[in-house]
Amino acid sequence: MTTRPRIPVAVLGATGAVGQRFVSRLASHPWFEVAELVASDRSAGRRYDEACAWRLSKLPAFGGLGAREVLPCRAEAVRSKVVFSALDASIAAEIEPALARVGALVFSNASAHRMEPDVPLLVPEVNSSHLSLLDVQRRKRGWSGGIVCNPNCTTTVLAMALAPLEQRFGIVRAFIATMQAVSGAGYPGVASLDALGNVLPFIRGEEEKVEAEIRKLLGHFVGEAIEPAALVASAMCHRVPVIDGHCEAVSLELRGAPRLVEVQAALEAWRGVPQELALPSAPEAPLVLHAMEDRPQPRLDVDRDGGMSVHVGRLRPCALLGTKFFLLGNNVERGAAGASVLNAELCLRRGLLPA
Ligand code: NAP
Repeated sequence: MTTRPRIPVAVLGATGAVGQRFVSRLASHPWFEVAELVASDRSAGRRYDEACAWRLSKLPAFGGLGAREVLPCRAEAVRSKVVFSALDASIAAEIEPALARVGALVFSNASAHRMEPDVPLLVPEVNSSHLSLLDVQRRKRGWSGGIVCNPNCTTTVLAMALAPLEQRFGIVRAFIATMQAVSGAGYPGVASLDALGNVLPFIRGEEEKVEAEIRKLLGHFVGEAIEPAALVASAMCHRVPVIDGHCEAVSLELRGAPRLVEVQAALEAWRGVPQELALPSAPEAPLVLHAMEDRPQPRLDVDRDGGMSVHVGRLRPCALLGTKFFLLGNNVERGAAGASVLNAELCLRRGLLPA
């Protein structure tokens, strides 16, 4: 049996919290191979193991690329046609379109381009049909490459739990209170004196992102654009002293006021395109339902399925909106690096990667 050579990819922001996840995840990926490590001018020209404060216990350290030279973050320095971006939005705003213009397909974690009308905001289980926007984008902008975004980490894991209920019943209103891990703020992120033994009741821009992105994610591709879902969402976002794993307490008003057993059945039965295609990063079941009253918990559940499944527990009636539950998702895997890699896997299977 012949094995196809792996596709060379670049990781932008390779020294950061999400960048390290990319490098680690791709070290053993069957289809993609990290060819280029890119970071700021502070890191460019240095060995990866000197420039990067590696913070993952999974081996190999530095994804086995410790001796590799870090490249500067400029379009002319990057040769790979598949690019994973873990840059801050302000930097992504410039470099991602510059790379797309010269033929790279950029899988971005940054917020810079997520809400642009011709940019797919993709969670493959939730809205794989939105990938059709890539053709629209390429045609309108005259690009051979493109930009495909994954949502904010909080919204991604929320969308995974809401999608089956939107599809089966329709959601009228959603109320979400989050407890978000410190790794969501990058590295070194929140100062330990602020984070330890404390709760921070404000994460700049987060509530607005959740409320806007969820409507695009659950919306429908009609004509050449996304018609946002009708639901009204209210999010309250908080930082808590957890390392990895965002938790969310969710209350929902569902159309037709279904019984809890119907809601549970819809969540349990839900599968998506990644499961049908058996994509390498897809979990067997995208949602894991917990029956124990004290689960899910970040410490016990966050790394199951390589951090790619979302956990739902404490499904029960809500006196205000009808249905409520607790969810947990891995912000740095399903919410960031794993999400982009899954998006790239879907694009490869759909024949959308640049030649
Ligand atoms: P981070 O730990 O602060 O890492 C930032 C990365 O960007 C580093 O590699 C850094 O390189 C590089 N960088 C900084 N300034 C640069 C510049 N001027 N030019 C080129 N590269 C530069 O951040 P992060 O948490 O990994 O987040 C990265 C992106 O993912 C952000 O847009 C964030 O919103 C998004 N995101 C994060 C999460 C999460 O859970 N952490 C989840 C979803 C999405 P140096 O080391 O050289 O400075």
